[in-house]
Amino acid sequence: MENFVFHNPVKVIFGKGQIKAVGREIPKGSRVLFAYGGGSIKKNGVHAQVVEALASAGLEFREFAGIEPNPRFETLMKAVELARAEKLDYVLAVGGGSVVDGCKLVAAAIDFAGDPWDIVCRKAAPTNAMPLGVVLTLPATGSEMNLFSVISRDETGEKLGWGHPSVMPRFSVLDPETTYSLPARQVGNGVVDAFVHVLEQYLTYPAEAPLQDRLAESVLSTLVEIGAKAMATPPDYQARANLMWCATMALNGLIGQGVPQDWATHMIGHELTALTGIDHARTLAAVWPGVVAVKRPEKRAKLLQYAARVWGLSDGDEDARIDAAVAKTRDFFESVGVPAGLGGYNLGADIPEAIARRLSERGGLPLGERGDIDADQVRRILQAA
Ligand code: NAP
Ligand code: FE
Repeated sequence: MENFVFHNPVKVIFGKGQIKAVGREIPKGSRVLFAYGGGSIKKNGVHAQVVEALASAGLEFREFAGIEPNPRFETLMKAVELARAEKLDYVLAVGGGSVVDGCKLVAAAIDFAGDPWDIVCRKAAPTNAMPLGVVLTLPATGSEMNLFSVISRDETGEKLGWGHPSVMPRFSVLDPETTYSLPARQVGNGVVDAFVHVLEQYLTYPAEAPLQDRLAESVLSTLVEIGAKAMATPPDYQARANLMWCATMALNGLIGQGVPQDWATHMIGHELTALTGIDHARTLAAVWPGVVAVKRPEKRAKLLQYAARVWGLSDGDEDARIDAAVAKTRDFFESVGVPAGLGGYNLGADIPEAIARRLSERGGLPLGERGDIDADQVRRILQAA
């Protein structure tokens, strides 16, 4: 196990009827930027619950609507303008990972003197981020309990990740009932995003960290156990509650402390979204089979452990076990409606080259837990996927 410092200060307020806690958690006298996405929260009653919580606590607020999936820098800068003009000093993000990620940049940019894009490019760090609170409506990204944010920019066609401790939410309300209105496609996306977050921190090389391994395996096994129930209609409260907590635990830092991390699937996936618009989680299910195909020798010991502990495959030929574990993983993605592999997408033959070039031009290579995935391997991964 490597050295680590683990500090996760996010207060999680979990369960039915908890949105009212917003009024208690935001300090009196704050001027709140209440930011959300394309309107799902108006249809499912979450908007009304948030307004009630803010109003009954006597908090001043302004609304900003329209943060899109894969939040756009251009849109977020409009929220920053509103916050500056209205002297708002607390950001409340209500929605999925895109709204939360977008609001992290807004919180960092409101009082930032330079160009906020420098924060996204990691050329500058936020200096005085406004406090951020979250009401999560889509279990998937873990953004509600981490410091990461992924932002897209039209002008340059980029999709980049950044992170800073000062934008970790002060609190996150996780009410599983807010997920009842999710389309099946988004529930399936959430299951896969959470599952791949765990794989990126687990399927690497053995690091003599058996606790982290078992924590990771328990999130994976729980997702497998509840995946189908989480997709059911009418929604099943316990399945949604467990999905929500799994997604948070998958990327709140806990399972990744002191162990090697991969993230190649995510980095290649971000480029695929930037080029084609395919949903984030769908790019992960598309790319992951290629990563395990190309990196199988390096990941062999953990693949065998994964096969045994998550899929119960511990007898017979080792290669057959790995094949079966990969096949079961692909079937699991498909069982929640997310296609595995790139085969179904009809993408141009130029995609592997375009992605390898974009990553390499930006200094985004090498990737992987050993830092050995270069442009050539990125091409091979995409071909194998
Ligand atoms: P999302 O992009 O936030 O939302 C997808 C769609 O779901 C939106 O159209 C949204 O509609 C809708 N939606 C959200 N909650 C809903 C509800 N309760 N009922 C009905 N519809 C609802 O999806 P996401 O998967 O959570 O976030 C994806 C983004 O997060 C990507 O940009 C990805 O790269 C990033 N990401 C971040 C991290 C991190 O650690 N920060 C990790 C992985 C991925 P409305 O707009 O109308 O609300
Ligand atoms: Fe993700």
